[in-house]
Amino acid sequence: MTPASASETNRSEAAGPERTRLTINLDVDVCVVGAGLAGLSVALEAARRGASVAVLEGRHVGWNASGNQMGTVMPGFGLPLADLIERVGLEDARELWALSQQGAEAVRANATEERMPGLSRSDGALQVSNVDVGDRLIARLQMLGEDFDTEVDGWQIDRVRDALKTKRYFHGVHYPRAFQIDGPAYLQGLAALARQAGVRIYEDTPVISFDAAGIRKRIVTPSARLRASQIVLAGNIHLGEPALRLSQTLLPVWRFGAITEPLGERLAEAITFPGSVTDTDGIDLFRIVGGDRLMWSGPETTWEARPQRFAGAIARRIRTLFPQLGKVAIAETFGGAVGQTVHGMPQIGELRRGLWVASGFGRQGLNTTAMAGRLIVSGILDRDDRWKLFSPFELVWAGGRTGRIAGHGIGIWNRQSAALAGTLARYREGAKAREWIREQRLAEANLRAGTGGSPSPDEGTDG
Ligand SMILES: Cc1cc2nc3c(=O)[nH]c(=O)nc-3n(C[C@H](O)[C@H](O)[C@H](O)COP(=O)(O)OP(=O)(O)OC[C@H]3O[C@@H](n4cnc5c(N)ncnc54)[C@H](O)[C@@H]3O)c2cc1C
Repeated sequence: MTPASASETNRSEAAGPERTRLTINLDVDVCVVGAGLAGLSVALEAARRGASVAVLEGRHVGWNASGNQMGTVMPGFGLPLADLIERVGLEDARELWALSQQGAEAVRANATEERMPGLSRSDGALQVSNVDVGDRLIARLQMLGEDFDTEVDGWQIDRVRDALKTKRYFHGVHYPRAFQIDGPAYLQGLAALARQAGVRIYEDTPVISFDAAGIRKRIVTPSARLRASQIVLAGNIHLGEPALRLSQTLLPVWRFGAITEPLGERLAEAITFPGSVTDTDGIDLFRIVGGDRLMWSGPETTWEARPQRFAGAIARRIRTLFPQLGKVAIAETFGGAVGQTVHGMPQIGELRRGLWVASGFGRQGLNTTAMAGRLIVSGILDRDDRWKLFSPFELVWAGGRTGRIAGHGIGIWNRQSAALAGTLARYREGAKAREWIREQRLAEANLRAGTGGSPSPDEGTDG
C-alpha cells in the first residue's frame, strides 16, 4: 500500500493546469464532448492509437462526478450480475463482465507510479450484506469464480465482523484484485496522460450544436468551430441542447461523500480492513484514507444540492454503523451527478456513422469508462463491433421531471426496504441466539434429569 496522496484527504489539491479555451477553428480526427472520466478515456485511447483528438469541455476538467468520486475500482456494472444474465443470457453476460474486468485492468495500467506519480493505491474491496444470506453468498461466489473467472473469496459473518466491528453486516464477498486510488488525482492524471499523448483539451468551451451528417462533421462552440470525422458524446447528464433527447435518457442522481477529521486509534480498532467496503444494497461506500480518517459516501438525491448539507447525515450514518467511534467531525464534503440509465447499463455505441455515445456510467464509472474508451476507439479504428454487446440496452427515455420524482421515490423506497431487511436480519439473528440458549438450557436440564440429548422438534423448545 502506498501512502495517501495530498488530494486524498484534501480534495481541493487535485486542481489541474491553467485552462485553455478554443479560440481558433480546428480540424481533427476525433472530437470528444466532455472532459470527465468517459471523455478523457476515449481521448487518451484514440491519441495513443495515433488519431488527432480535441476534447471540448463546457466548464473544467472533472468538475462534476469524475473529479468527485471515491476511487474504488471493481469489475462489473451498476446492473446486478443476475439481472444481466437474465437480460442477455449467460454467454453475452460473460463477455460483458470480461470487458468490465479489462476496464478495471486498464485503470490499473494507467495508475502506476511511473505514469501517475504520487497516486496512492490500496488493494482489495469487500462487498458486505446487511441481511443474513449465507446460501446466496455461496451461489454468488460459485458464479463469479466458475462462470465469470473472477478472483473472489467468501467471508463468513465472524470474519466480516472481525474486520468491521459492527453488527449491521453479515456475510461478505472479498475481491482481492479490486483496488482503490485517489479519485480526483486519477482524473487529473488521466488528463495529463492525454495531453502527453497529444490530445488538445479546451475548457470553458461548451458545445452548443453539431451536425453529424456527412463524412466531415461540424461542431459549434461559442468561440470557434471544429470539423471532425468522429464525434464522441461523453457529456453525461449535462450534455443538454446539442443532443437533448439523448440527455433525457439519463436520470440524474446526485451522490455525496465526506471525509472525516482524524479519528485516531479508535478507527483502527473499529475497522481493520484496508480496502473499500460497499454494501450489497448500494447504501454505503467507505474506506480509510490518510491513516485515520474515513471517506464515506451515502446520500443520494435526484436534485442538485450543496454537499455540505449532507455532512450531518453522513456523520449520523457513520455513528449508526460504528457507534464506538463516538462523535465524528466532518472535515470536507464533496459530490457530483451521475447519469443513471433506466436499465442500469452504460450507453456505449455508434448512434449513426461517426457519432458515438459514452455515458450513463452510474455509480460505477471507473472501470466502465476505461472499457468504453477502448471499445469505442477500436470500433472507430478497427471496425471492431464488440460495442454491439451493449445494444440490447437501448436508449430509453428516463422520464424528465416526472422520472426524477419517481426515481427519487423508488430510491428512497429501495433504501428503506433494504434498511428494514437489515433490521429483520439482525432481529432473526438475535432470535436464533435466544433459541440456541434455550436449547442449551433444556439440554442441560434434560441431562440433570437423566434423560440426555436435546429435545426432538415435536417436543418443542419453548420453556
Ligand atoms: C460521490 C461519488 C462517488 C463515486 N465513487 C465512485 C467509485 O468509487 N468508483 C466508481 O467506479 N465510480 C464512482 N462514482 C461514479 C463516477 O464518478 C461516474 O460514473 C463517472 O465520473 C461518470 O463520468 P462521465 O465522464 O460520464 O461524467 P462527468 O463526470 O459528468 O463528465 C462529463 C463532462 O462533460 C461535460 N459536458 C457536458 N455537456 C457538454 C457540452 N455540451 N459541451 C462541453 N462539455 C460538456 C461536463 O461539463 C462534464 O465535465 C462516484 C460518483 C460520485 C458522485
